[in-house]
Amino acid sequence: MQSNRTKHFKRAKRVVIKVGSSVLTAKTGLNIQAIQSISRQICALMDSGREVVLVSSGAIASGMKKIGLAKKPKEIPKRQAVAAVGQAGLMLEYEIAFGAFQKQVAQVLLTRDDLCDRKRYLNARNTIRTLLSWKVVPIINENDTVAIEELKFGDNDNLAAMITLLMGADILINLTDIEGLYNKDPRTNSDAELIPLVDTISRGVERLASDIPGTLGTGGMLSKIRAAKKVTKAGIPMVIAKGEKENILGALFSGEPLGTFFVPEKNKLPSRKGWIAFTLKPQGKLLIDAGAALAIVNNGKSLLPIGITDVRGDFSVGACVEFLDSNETKLGIGLVNYSAADIKKIKGLKSSEIESRLGYKAYDEVIHRDNLALTG
Ligand code: GLU
Repeated sequence: MQSNRTKHFKRAKRVVIKVGSSVLTAKTGLNIQAIQSISRQICALMDSGREVVLVSSGAIASGMKKIGLAKKPKEIPKRQAVAAVGQAGLMLEYEIAFGAFQKQVAQVLLTRDDLCDRKRYLNARNTIRTLLSWKVVPIINENDTVAIEELKFGDNDNLAAMITLLMGADILINLTDIEGLYNKDPRTNSDAELIPLVDTISRGVERLASDIPGTLGTGGMLSKIRAAKKVTKAGIPMVIAKGEKENILGALFSGEPLGTFFVPEKNKLPSRKGWIAFTLKPQGKLLIDAGAALAIVNNGKSLLPIGITDVRGDFSVGACVEFLDSNETKLGIGLVNYSAADIKKIKGLKSSEIESRLGYKAYDEVIHRDNLALTG
């Protein structure tokens, strides 16, 4: 398995690197040395022929220090204003650090809304591709100054996962303030052991992670595991490693077995399905019977009205909706051809009965297989 990991690093041409606030900030504000070190390492990767997209946190943490706040403000306008102050300083330091290696940087601030809209999603991809073709380093952060709570990525672990999918990257490297995923919180348990490799992100793994909170950023270990779930399901590996370790990126790429490596699933999810599954926000749920579950999961079929037993939430045509089996286990997600109100009327019916019940028939399927992704 170890050699498998090496193979992934060797082959990786396009790399997304996420650096957390805990790596980038010190007691007095931004940790300039850390920024210089990460920038130098990224330049080395670029000089070895790789493309690097950087997802950097640190705006809020550094803005707080600049304004002189000890705690993250609760009020949204203050929080957003603090991010605005911090983001400017963050980019300035990156510009200086990369400039020392004659590399240019570009600031890309995104909200979840930008990526939920397919056109804007593709537009963001084209822009980042262009920057990469110019050998400019895209430095991405959530647009904390305008993002509204319900429409946020939530944390930069999630944002980095979505950027990895957006760019069809070959690997996601998540640099944080601990070595990787442990079997217990290493900060409070001296006998905690590092888990070097995670094959499948089971409920047990998620439980382990939820006991290990973050120190500074928004995420903690659980959000890193959720990010790993997204990218590995799309066939892309992720590694969590300690950002402060000397030359960590060089060490990872030269095959040192550091951190926790999350093994990707064999089948790569097509890019559009990855967008449906992991970027869009689900608007509702459909419960389906065993026959439909089997047809979809084992035989790659579409979801027909006959297999639907219950509809939850209020959503319109084209919404992104999860479907669950009778035990309420999530099976996947897809874009619906009918609204929640109409699905309530046609659930359990044959497709040939749709028209007589609704007075129209747009499609035979409630979710067509082209618009459906299994997420487990
Ligand atoms: N976007 C936030 C910032 O730059 C960080 C969010 C996170 O830590 O996950 O401060």
